[in-house]
Amino acid sequence: MRCFADVPGGGAGMEGEGMTNRLYVVATPIGNLSDLSERAVQTLREVDVVACEDTRVSRVLLRHIGSGAKTISAHEHNQRKAADAVVSHLRAGRSVALVSDAGTPAISDPGTLIVAAVHDAGFPVVPIPGPSAVAALLSCSGLSDAPFVFEGFLPARPKARDARLASVQAAADAIGAIVVLYEAPHRIEATLQALAQRHGAARRIAIGRELTKTFEEIFRGLALDAPGWLEARPERIRGEFVIAIDRAGEAPADAPAAAHRTFEPDALLERLLQDLAPSRAVKLAQELTGLAHRDLYARALSMGARAGPKDAREESDE
Ligand code: SAM
Repeated sequence: MRCFADVPGGGAGMEGEGMTNRLYVVATPIGNLSDLSERAVQTLREVDVVACEDTRVSRVLLRHIGSGAKTISAHEHNQRKAADAVVSHLRAGRSVALVSDAGTPAISDPGTLIVAAVHDAGFPVVPIPGPSAVAALLSCSGLSDAPFVFEGFLPARPKARDARLASVQAAADAIGAIVVLYEAPHRIEATLQALAQRHGAARRIAIGRELTKTFEEIFRGLALDAPGWLEARPERIRGEFVIAIDRAGEAPADAPAAAHRTFEPDALLERLLQDLAPSRAVKLAQELTGLAHRDLYARALSMGARAGPKDAREESDE
């Protein structure tokens, strides 16, 4: 067991006792290796065991920094077993670090069960903080100075996603908070469409894409404009995304006017009709442009949108 007494601030109130019997929760980069802190390097070099979300991913990092620590697997599906193994190592007087593939463990990543088990077993848990996509975006979003609700990944299925989004948004609105989401490349388009439908020109959102990496981008604008931003460059759809939705009442006062400027009604309708039934497309276009429902409906029909039974009913009701 090597001694850790020289690690600045590297103890959990046990000065001089070295690093035995402790779990170190170590943040690793989310895309830029230079973001690995000195303290993280030192910890990963000095611990006996590193519990990894994916040992293949973390071994590359450990090799890079010259760490010879033993690795054990601690992924989403074996967390209970991994927690037992970590506690056994601590009981045997060893030190353990917990890492995920990228960013801070237990933030939309495995780790919570292990950390809880270590607390329950009476061993110290020591944070080695560092990169996390949620903090990286919030600090650069320029959204309001508000508390935030971190939701992470929404459910994959559209119905469940929309239901969850509605309840998270309601809870956040009740306390005037920002909502932060993580999203995968194959779902980003649908999620931004859902946010545009829900918030239109009424909310500002920020999107961090590929933060800290070569093609890092930050979008900051109305929810309404986010799908257009994504589509403007086809390669954008690839990458990692974090989204922050501002609290209510922070969008620019002229936001509805901006929406009119942003979308030419026919182009908007044409795009909406690609994904939605005519009745939905027209309703949304009406909300976004403020134009008359009847006019928009006529335009949709002239574009070749077929009126279904519900649509036909709606039209005769006008
Ligand atoms: N534990 C990580 C953290 O602290 O941020 C998050 C892990 S979670 C499995 C991965 C998700 O985080 C990605 O799908 C993306 O939504 C977000 N993310 C991670 N790295 C990112 C980056 N460089 N830029 C934008 N989002 C990122």
